[in-house]
Amino acid sequence: MPEAHSLSLDTLCIHAGQDPDPASGAVMTPIVLSSTFAQEAPGQHKGFDYSRAGNPTRTALEACYAAIEGARHGIAFGSGCAATTAILMTLASGDHVLCGDDLYGGTFRIFDKVMKPFGLGASFIDMTDPKKVAAAITPKTRMIWLETPSNPLLKIFDVAALAEIARRAKVSLVVDNTFATPLLQRPLDLGATASVHSATKYLNGHSDVVGGAVMTNDDELAERLHFLQKSVGAVPAPFDCYLVLRGLKTLGVRMQRHVESAKVLAEWLDGHPQVERVRYPGLASHPGHALAERQMKGPGGMITFDLAGGLPAARLFFGALRVFVCAESLGGVESLAEHPAIMTHASLPAETRRALGIGDGMIRISVGLEDAGDLRRDLEAGFAAARPTSASR
Ligand code: PLP
Repeated sequence: MPEAHSLSLDTLCIHAGQDPDPASGAVMTPIVLSSTFAQEAPGQHKGFDYSRAGNPTRTALEACYAAIEGARHGIAFGSGCAATTAILMTLASGDHVLCGDDLYGGTFRIFDKVMKPFGLGASFIDMTDPKKVAAAITPKTRMIWLETPSNPLLKIFDVAALAEIARRAKVSLVVDNTFATPLLQRPLDLGATASVHSATKYLNGHSDVVGGAVMTNDDELAERLHFLQKSVGAVPAPFDCYLVLRGLKTLGVRMQRHVESAKVLAEWLDGHPQVERVRYPGLASHPGHALAERQMKGPGGMITFDLAGGLPAARLFFGALRVFVCAESLGGVESLAEHPAIMTHASLPAETRRALGIGDGMIRISVGLEDAGDLRRDLEAGFAAARPTSASR
């Protein structure tokens, strides 16, 4: 394959790390299931000795991860949560991480229930104003952690400005790039130390793998993460690596269609009488719209909206959907709808959810690749079911 820097992202998604197999000529990367590898003599092998430490299918995926994020290193994990945990394990007891206030509930749980008992401190603040972030850094802060767009409120944070603050404070900046993907947003180019992904979502794109990834240009961090990957063992299975490689081949066209349909649906939702508020970075009314236009190549395929009528209306709405599947997760070819307060963000304390504005009428949708007209008609059926009858008004 030509040098990665001379190729476009769409091409890298299809080819990076995946030259035809030298042994057989196989065009598709072989799934190497072997847990162990023959050694010609003790300690002499072809680069692989044991599959937890390294596996050829995983190596191909890691090369592809690195290439599409424009990174020197890609490290694959068994889930997004495993990737998050591995990054936090590079820190020490007594260290502090400054986090965005709107994070995937499972990420919050890692900070709160897994790392806190080991002495890793964390605080959660709205990072919309970079000056407030600079002011919140303590002498113990070692890392800034954020999602942008965030989950589920789709806030947009200024990665370049926060990277500059991190650089001055000599702390690292980790961006969870799951919602945007490397196709729409390039955290490393904007100055972040590492980009982390739930590969379960858009990278794989078919809702049939749980996986995670970290991409970085920091050699020391990458070495430590490879060490943790091998030592802790949160590695993806070779078959899953193959599936993500296959999914990545269509990431470019998938993201194009996700964005196209999400824009149409967000505009329609924005004018809907039963919708109190739509959060979508592609709408001019979104407070982060201008920043998203600068920082992203497209506003993504996720929309969050507040349905009038709270939980009773939301239950009726979900009950009427036939194309959207009521399920956690996102980024697959199929459209999903979920209720953050009950589902993805249930691990947040109720008062935190309330303070953030994650209410009982909030619905998050992942716009899939189905016909946009069918999706709109499905949502219309949801609104019709949730509409207050004259008797209940
Ligand atoms: N980051 C974000 C933004 C997520 O939405 C998720 C899961 O929903 C994760 C990380 C965790 O990933 P996984 O479920 O693959 O462990």
